[in-house]
Amino acid sequence: MLRIGLTGGIGSGKSTVAAALADLDGVTVIDADAIARDIVEPGQPALEELAREFGSDILQADGTLDRKLLAERAFSDDTATERLNAIMHPRIIREASQRLDTAERNGAVAGVYDMPLLFETGQADKFDTVIVVDVDSEERVRRLKEHRGIDAADARRRMAAQIGDEERRSGADIIIDNNGPLTALELQVKSIVAPLIEAERRRPGH
Ligand code: ADP
Repeated sequence: MLRIGLTGGIGSGKSTVAAALADLDGVTVIDADAIARDIVEPGQPALEELAREFGSDILQADGTLDRKLLAERAFSDDTATERLNAIMHPRIIREASQRLDTAERNGAVAGVYDMPLLFETGQADKFDTVIVVDVDSEERVRRLKEHRGIDAADARRRMAAQIGDEERRSGADIIIDNNGPLTALELQVKSIVAPLIEAERRRPGH
């Protein structure tokens, strides 16, 4: 199975690329954001640990996580953020790796891991190919506001918590330029990524 790490700054179009790849035959997409939500479901050990670390009032009456309150506490300063990451990141990494292994056992041709913090969490070298979706930061701010209702100051703050675009690009095996229209993005997925997956499908032993 071809292991593809898919990353990019917030608002770059990772989810859009992931959705296009998921449409290809034999491709399994693993979404780090979805894992981050799954592991804090009621009853999950990470949720209990978060409550111990950030206060039991982050648990609502029905046992679910009060995300807003957690975010207020965890993003208030760098040490708090590090404590949050120390609880979340190892579990996300472990779960993603298990889901990729399951995809491989089930005969997937390619496993795509959609992970905003692929470089920040030191996971890039676990993948055969790292794809970076790249968009000028001001265009990302604009798209996040227009499509997701995230205000510019918030978008810039979130971007500041990620590595810089130059550093991200320098770690890429493939850079997808998503400054243009969606049709251009789809074309790049078809002309650059789909052939890699086809090559993997034809590989002996697959
Ligand atoms: P990410 O997952 O990297 O945060 P998304 O895939 O959610 O980014 O894209 C951010 C927003 O920008 C979405 O609303 C998406 O529909 C939109 N978008 C993505 N690519 C383009 C594009 N080429 N042109 C216009 N809007 C785009």
